[in-house]
Amino acid sequence: MKYQIIKEKCLKCGRCREVCPAEAIVKGEIIQEKCRGCGACVKVCAYKAIVPVESENKSHIYPSGLCR
Ligand code: SF4
Ligand code: SF4
Repeated sequence: MKYQIIKEKCLKCGRCREVCPAEAIVKGEIIQEKCRGCGACVKVCAYKAIVPVESENKSHIYPSGLCR
């Protein structure tokens, strides 16, 4: 699962960046290509500013499941 930062909620405390093992958080944004989906940043964010990306992949997953 990938995550994103809701900028309006983020107070730029920097905690998420400290715990990210992939150095995927840069300038208040999660670089999707780097994010491993470990969820560590979500746990440390006291402001619930990090949420799963509402992935467009979902629309890919369902059709392929139905095709079987
Ligand atoms: S831990 Fe939450 S509030 Fe702090 S910088 Fe990261 S997203 Fe923003
Ligand atoms: S989910 Fe893990 S890898 Fe992705 S930004 Fe958060 S801490 Fe970094």
